[in-house]
Amino acid sequence: MKTPRFCLDCGSAVSGRADKKYCSDACRIQYHNRNHRITQNLAKNVNRIIRTNYLILERCIGNQSERELPLNELEIRGFRFGFLTHLSHLPDGRLRCSIYDLSWEKINDKNCLIQGPEKSAEKRSLV
Ligand SMILES: [Zn+2]
Repeated sequence: MKTPRFCLDCGSAVSGRADKKYCSDACRIQYHNRNHRITQNLAKNVNRIIRTNYLILERCIGNQSERELPLNELEIRGFRFGFLTHLSHLPDGRLRCSIYDLSWEKINDKNCLIQGPEKSAEKRSLV
Protein backbone atom coordinates (compact mmCIF):
# COMPACT_ATOMS: atom_id res chain seq x y z
CA MET A 1 0.00 0.00 0.00
CA LYS A 2 1.32 3.42 -0.98
CA THR A 3 1.84 6.05 1.66
CA PRO A 4 -0.39 9.05 0.93
CA ARG A 5 1.55 12.14 -0.08
CA PHE A 6 0.45 15.72 0.24
CA CYS A 7 1.36 18.88 -1.63
CA LEU A 8 4.04 20.90 0.21
CA ASP A 9 2.20 24.10 -0.70
CA CYS A 10 -1.54 23.52 -0.33
CA GLY A 11 -1.72 20.17 1.46
CA SER A 12 -3.85 18.47 -1.23
CA ALA A 13 -3.22 14.81 -2.03
CA VAL A 14 -0.46 14.29 -4.60
CA SER A 15 -0.62 11.51 -7.16
CA GLY A 16 1.82 10.48 -9.86
CA ARG A 17 5.59 10.03 -9.67
CA ALA A 18 6.95 8.82 -6.33
CA ASP A 19 9.15 11.93 -5.95
CA LYS A 20 6.38 14.42 -6.82
CA LYS A 21 6.00 17.01 -4.05
CA TYR A 22 3.32 19.35 -5.39
CA CYS A 23 -0.18 18.85 -6.74
CA SER A 24 0.40 21.33 -9.58
CA ASP A 25 2.96 23.61 -11.20
CA ALA A 26 1.16 26.58 -9.66
CA CYS A 27 1.75 25.15 -6.16
CA ARG A 28 5.39 24.31 -6.97
CA ILE A 29 6.06 27.88 -8.15
CA GLN A 30 4.14 29.47 -5.28
CA TYR A 31 6.03 27.34 -2.73
CA HIS A 32 9.42 28.32 -4.16
CA ASN A 33 8.49 32.01 -4.44
CA ARG A 34 7.31 32.11 -0.83
CA ASN A 35 10.48 30.39 0.45
CA HIS A 36 12.67 32.66 -1.66
CA ARG A 37 10.90 35.74 -0.29
CA ILE A 38 11.38 34.52 3.30
CA THR A 39 15.12 33.87 2.87
CA GLN A 40 15.50 37.15 0.97
CA ASN A 41 13.90 39.07 3.85
CA LEU A 42 16.07 37.29 6.43
CA ALA A 43 19.22 38.10 4.46
CA LYS A 44 18.09 41.70 3.99
CA ASN A 45 17.62 42.13 7.76
CA VAL A 46 21.02 40.61 8.60
CA ASN A 47 22.74 42.69 5.91
CA ARG A 48 21.10 45.85 7.26
CA ILE A 49 22.44 45.14 10.77
CA ILE A 50 25.93 44.38 9.42
CA ARG A 51 25.89 47.60 7.36
CA THR A 52 24.81 49.60 10.44
CA ASN A 53 27.58 47.96 12.50
CA TYR A 54 30.10 48.81 9.78
CA LEU A 55 29.04 52.47 9.73
CA ILE A 56 29.31 52.63 13.54
CA LEU A 57 32.86 51.22 13.41
CA GLU A 58 33.75 53.61 10.60
CA ARG A 59 32.48 56.62 12.56
CA CYS A 60 34.25 55.50 15.73
CA ILE A 61 37.63 54.99 14.09
CA GLY A 62 37.44 58.15 11.97
CA ASN A 63 40.73 58.66 10.16
CA GLN A 64 42.82 56.76 12.70
CA SER A 65 44.31 53.34 11.93
CA GLU A 66 43.12 52.05 15.30
CA ARG A 67 41.25 53.32 18.29
CA GLU A 68 40.57 52.02 21.77
CA LEU A 69 37.16 52.79 23.19
CA PRO A 70 34.71 51.56 25.82
CA LEU A 71 32.52 48.65 24.72
CA ASN A 72 29.44 50.50 25.93
CA GLU A 73 30.15 53.34 23.51
CA LEU A 74 29.54 50.89 20.68
CA GLU A 75 26.40 49.61 22.41
CA ILE A 76 25.08 53.14 22.91
CA ARG A 77 25.49 53.74 19.18
CA GLY A 78 23.43 50.62 18.46
CA PHE A 79 26.26 48.22 17.62
CA ARG A 80 25.16 44.57 17.69
CA PHE A 81 28.12 42.39 18.60
CA GLY A 82 26.74 39.14 17.18
CA PHE A 83 26.69 40.45 13.61
CA LEU A 84 30.00 40.29 11.73
CA THR A 85 31.46 38.92 8.53
CA HIS A 86 34.36 36.88 9.90
CA LEU A 87 36.40 35.86 12.95
CA SER A 88 40.19 35.55 13.10
CA HIS A 89 42.19 33.63 15.67
CA LEU A 90 45.37 35.60 16.22
CA PRO A 91 48.65 33.76 16.89
CA ASP A 92 48.57 34.83 20.55
CA GLY A 93 45.12 33.31 21.06
CA ARG A 94 43.10 36.50 20.83
CA LEU A 95 39.94 36.55 18.76
CA ARG A 96 39.36 39.38 16.30
CA CYS A 97 35.91 40.09 14.89
CA SER A 98 35.59 41.77 11.52
CA ILE A 99 33.10 43.36 9.22
CA TYR A 100 34.73 43.47 5.81
CA ASP A 101 37.92 45.54 6.29
CA LEU A 102 37.21 46.88 9.79
CA SER A 103 37.77 44.82 12.92
CA TRP A 104 37.38 44.97 16.67
CA GLU A 105 38.55 42.92 19.57
CA LYS A 106 37.78 42.98 23.24
CA ILE A 107 40.93 44.00 25.11
CA ASN A 108 39.45 43.76 28.63
CA ASP A 109 36.03 43.66 30.29
CA LYS A 110 35.26 47.27 29.43
CA ASN A 111 37.22 48.21 26.34
CA CYS A 112 37.75 47.18 22.77
CA LEU A 113 40.19 48.05 20.03
CA ILE A 114 38.88 48.97 16.61
CA GLN A 115 41.25 48.59 13.70
CA GLY A 116 40.96 49.92 10.20
CA PRO A 117 42.11 48.25 7.03
CA GLU A 118 45.82 47.34 7.03
CA LYS A 119 46.52 49.00 3.68
CA SER A 120 44.73 52.19 4.61
CA ALA A 121 46.66 52.31 7.85
CA GLU A 122 49.94 51.94 5.92
CA LYS A 123 48.91 54.66 3.50
CA ARG A 124 48.03 56.98 6.38
CA SER A 125 51.42 56.46 8.00
CA LEU A 126 53.18 57.35 4.73
CA VAL A 127 51.36 60.66 4.43
ZN1 LIG B 1 -0.94 22.07 -4.13
